[in-house]
Amino acid sequence: MAAAMMMRVCGTFSSGLGFRFRDLRSFVSAAKAAGVSPVKCLPERVKIVEVGPRDGLQNEKTIVPAEVKIRLIDMLSEAGLPVIEATSFVSPKWVPQMADQMEVMQGIRKHPGVSYPVLAPNLKGFQAAVKADAREVAIFGAASELFSKKNINCSIEESLQRFEEVTRAAQEAGVLVRGYVSCVLGCPYEGKVSPEKVAQVAKRMYSMGCYEISLGDTIGVGTPGSMREMLCAVTKEVPVDALAVHCHDTYGQALANILVALQMGVSVVDSSVAGLGGCPYAQGASGNVATEDVVYMLHGLGIQTGVDLQKLMDAGAFICRSLNRRTSSKVAQALCKL
Ligand SMILES: [Zn+2]
Repeated sequence: MAAAMMMRVCGTFSSGLGFRFRDLRSFVSAAKAAGVSPVKCLPERVKIVEVGPRDGLQNEKTIVPAEVKIRLIDMLSEAGLPVIEATSFVSPKWVPQMADQMEVMQGIRKHPGVSYPVLAPNLKGFQAAVKADAREVAIFGAASELFSKKNINCSIEESLQRFEEVTRAAQEAGVLVRGYVSCVLGCPYEGKVSPEKVAQVAKRMYSMGCYEISLGDTIGVGTPGSMREMLCAVTKEVPVDALAVHCHDTYGQALANILVALQMGVSVVDSSVAGLGGCPYAQGASGNVATEDVVYMLHGLGIQTGVDLQKLMDAGAFICRSLNRRTSSKVAQALCKL
């Protein structure tokens, strides 16, 4: 009886694109009264983590000047994004696109209530980030051994030990740490990645003090099926409200994957304005899911984001002009004619 109710009510929510909060509330109480977990409800509000200025621009061929990055971040703040990943404190030898990190951090207008995390791969990067007044840093690990070796030059275990130094220092300095796990739905070198491995790495990062774990489908091979399987394993080890999903649209599955994650209780979504950032493992393929497309879908579902879609599209148009590229956002293509 309980299972039948779950199917029926979840069916209503999955397909009812225009549902209202009143219905959600009555759904929750009906589900509770029937002894069914309302876990598959969609969240009332989703926090979008805008990764365009860092993850996006880092993977674009064209290097844009610091003042363009600053203007982009300011426009994104004005559009209402609650979290904007601003830059990366890695060696410019490895990532020349982010060599101006200090200038960017000092040039942006920090809006109250908006967080501007920066990537800090090790203690040295962390210290530089703190000097630049960063109040939140992100560490970047992987669920695939070979990807870890090729991308960050060490085994998963070594990377986790390095991150522990960062989280310890961050706790002392009162700085928040966000953890990325990459290759959660597949690896360009190993192929399939086991959901249990993802769960293990996510659990380690969470227990060392990361307040949020972003699960990244780095090469965009995931489907709603593999997303569900992976999240089932991870939510056994990490509370769902500490999880975010980071989907790439390489195979056109990103929005579907995000929707499945929302249905499973995830309420934090990473995305990149204009879909900035290509995919280095599949020539010409899309990279990050576009923030415009995520916002359009969420608003269509009646979910609040606090983001002004028009201002967001203005930011997307601005950065596309600077990069001399076309937007990857379907919504911006449909509404703007870039
Ligand atoms: Zn990404």
